Amino acid sequence: MRREHCGELREKNVGQRVTLAGWVHAVRDLGSLTFVDLRDGSGVVQLVFREMPEAHTLGREDVIRVTGKVRPREKPNPALTTGAVEVTVETLEILAKSPPLPFLPDEEVKASEETRLRYRFLDLRRARMQRNLRLRHKVTLAIRQYLSAQGFIEVETPMLTRSTPEGARDFLVPSRLEPGKFYALPQSPQLFKQILICSGVEKYFQIVRCFRDEDLRADRQPEFTQLDLEMAFLEDPEELFSLLEGLVAHVFREAIGVDLAVPFPRLPYREAMLRYGSDKPDLRFGLEMVDLTDLLAPAGFKVFAEAAQRGGVVRGLPLPGGAHLTRAELNRIEESGKNAGLSGLLWLKVEEGVHSPLEKHVGEGVLANVAARAGLASGDLLLLAAGPEQTVAQALGELRVQLARERGLVPQGKWALAWIVDFPLFKLSAEGRLESEHHPFTSPKDEDLPFLETDPLRVHAKCYDLVVNGVELASGSIRIHRRELQERIFKILGIGPEEAERRFGFFLRALAYGAPPHGGIAFGLDRWVMMLAGENSIREVIAFPKTATGACPLTGAPAEVDEAQLRELRIKLDL
Ligand code: ASP
Repeated sequence: MRREHCGELREKNVGQRVTLAGWVHAVRDLGSLTFVDLRDGSGVVQLVFREMPEAHTLGREDVIRVTGKVRPREKPNPALTTGAVEVTVETLEILAKSPPLPFLPDEEVKASEETRLRYRFLDLRRARMQRNLRLRHKVTLAIRQYLSAQGFIEVETPMLTRSTPEGARDFLVPSRLEPGKFYALPQSPQLFKQILICSGVEKYFQIVRCFRDEDLRADRQPEFTQLDLEMAFLEDPEELFSLLEGLVAHVFREAIGVDLAVPFPRLPYREAMLRYGSDKPDLRFGLEMVDLTDLLAPAGFKVFAEAAQRGGVVRGLPLPGGAHLTRAELNRIEESGKNAGLSGLLWLKVEEGVHSPLEKHVGEGVLANVAARAGLASGDLLLLAAGPEQTVAQALGELRVQLARERGLVPQGKWALAWIVDFPLFKLSAEGRLESEHHPFTSPKDEDLPFLETDPLRVHAKCYDLVVNGVELASGSIRIHRRELQERIFKILGIGPEEAERRFGFFLRALAYGAPPHGGIAFGLDRWVMMLAGENSIREVIAFPKTATGACPLTGAPAEVDEAQLRELRIKLDL
């Protein structure tokens, strides 16, 4: 039926007779006069009931339909977009009543996350959640429009499939028709998208659900959404970067009206680790680390000399204005450094000369050189740490972010995007085994091919991440498109020919029958929308998320199933 939208009524509608339908958002009962704020998807407008007995029965979240006349409001409410008008109600229909609510779906919700998720249908009625759902729709629409215009087509890939190699645990689905066998839910469409390329689909994308059965750390979900993309005849990542910069800029503009500067800077992995101590550096602020090994290792301080002898480094993290920190504050920073893995932290400050407890060991001249290399000005502090490179870089990197946040050095409203490139192809696992840094289908750099077997850790990959404000937004690579090289990589990873055939035979066959060079990327869509919405958790931008233990309080999943269902699947529980 015809109806007007609450949030759209303005002064120009005064005098019109309107039909409105929605939820009772607030009731103020003054006896002969009842004021009701009526809410629908477009917003809220004030209704006035005069001498209407049913109006007294109305409560929060009842669903009603009214007709009435738009009038100017006696006391306009500038906080409301419809605040200049109100609707004098002539007819009222109560379409549905609501019992007392477990919480009020208002801006500030005073309920635990568990309760919010259990009554998600109430929680989602909040203006903020409605805004987030709409924003998410805008983002996916903008993605589809942009990529379609660039000749990409969206192709769906199976949810019931074989185990995929993204390195997490699989969710398994038992097969009824083949008892004892299982499907795995895809951790990503990686192999299917590569097979699509082998199938003549030259530009593929998909907004797709992925499943990883991990212990849920802070902001993970067992199922999450990815923008997955792949292109044939792609050999140079730069081609992909410019296309994706266009995509990302388009989405930012459409979704939140922000114009990003393109191209985004490219930062080699090594440099990111050296300057920011992270492969997803937050580039909204400086606080760049400096390597001081060559200056400080030979300077006569034992800790530094020993660290260097063991192949380690000495690095400094500058803190502008930090010279005025109290001893207690310095102690607290040192404590954070220790929590991040450092054995200790030293300092140097510039305040009418350079001062540091190190002075008696290394002398004034060396300190002055250190201060100069770190670019310190009067009033600045430099935190110094020594040890294994990875540990020092990461720990100072964590401190960098923590201190920037605590000291208000992170500019708000700023977007700093960058491509991180030249990652190593492999890393060592905790047990000292070679593992893919990204995944085993990533192409090594051509110039490093001769070292694949002899010195694998020096091999670089044709892979790249897109980072935004210290968050990894997307990750991808140029793929291996020759079967021989793929088999060679499997072998280095300890996957022998039999295992390779068993797990990936279907994929190796696809590569064998004429696979074009190709590459692609995947964006974490939930994270992207979260950032655009200014939220701190992806749960705020997923309609029906799970809790930190992977449960869905709304439906009660995961849940027991009937004995008969288990019998059909030939499954016996051993709890
Ligand atoms: N499959 C990868 C992932 O899900 C992304 C890619 O390499 O395209 O992380």
